[in-house]
Amino acid sequence: MNVAQGRLWVVATPIGNLDDLSPRAADVLRTVQLIAAEDTRHSALLLARVGSRAPCIALHEHNERDQVAHLLERLQQGTDIALISDAGTPLVSDPGYRLVRAARDAGICVSPVPGPCAAIAALSVAGLASDRFVFEGFLPAKASARRERIGELFAEARTLIFYESSHRILETLRDLVAVFGSERQAVIARELTKVFETVISGSLAQLEARVAADANQQRGEFVVMVAGASGEQADATLAEGRRVFALLCEEMAPARAARMAAAITGAPRKALYAPTTESN
Ligand code: SAM
Repeated sequence: MNVAQGRLWVVATPIGNLDDLSPRAADVLRTVQLIAAEDTRHSALLLARVGSRAPCIALHEHNERDQVAHLLERLQQGTDIALISDAGTPLVSDPGYRLVRAARDAGICVSPVPGPCAAIAALSVAGLASDRFVFEGFLPAKASARRERIGELFAEARTLIFYESSHRILETLRDLVAVFGSERQAVIARELTKVFETVISGSLAQLEARVAADANQQRGEFVVMVAGASGEQADATLAEGRRVFALLCEEMAPARAARMAAAITGAPRKALYAPTTESN
């Protein structure tokens, strides 16, 4: 007997204000037979609010690999499943990638129920160029890796979007100033759609000073957006980086010289070392 396959619904949920749940999202959460939630206890409130009685199972970064086979089997048996995360759009810095990938590979129909996403909500009010942008998610937690990652983005001309938590907002702002320079324009969107929503803009140095001076500005959830590099800025820094790199190469090995020149000038390390090694 041929059993019709179920459908996987990828459902966006609010990032703060519960009224942002769309009527269609509520309808899907009420009608599916199973809900895969990042944190079942966290989502219980939302599910109760919409009157969903579907059983809920956990799908988070630590068990996604194991849960995928089970969920795939249920989909193949005809179960309709909704995937939700704690807030916003699943898969955007949230679990779900493996499940969606496996479902698509197995020929299961995967449908989005679009809605809130912190990155897009923040960009929509930032007043920075929004025709082209780069979503970077969370920067690395380790300071050296974070600086290196920011360094790699130095010459990026598109608007940059980062997610950040209260633990690291200040450190991240300091690193952004150190690598991109004080003058680069930026916007911090905090606690969007919630009671203490604030959106502040200015140069990176101004924003760092403002957040450092006000403990309230260090609380909550953040989207940090940074204007892309102007061509002139990037060219000038790269030229300076190459000059310093060439000088340092007289005293030390190129790999070390590139690391130091990048740290001194803010030029991307890879842009300094690769051209020199190729021309050798
Ligand atoms: N999937 C979510 C989305 O669609 O935006 C993102 C989940 S990620 C684990 C959580 C991060 O998103 C937070 O650390 C913060 O950077 C950002 N975020 C979530 N809600 C936010 C809000 N209300 N205001 C500002 N940033 C928020």
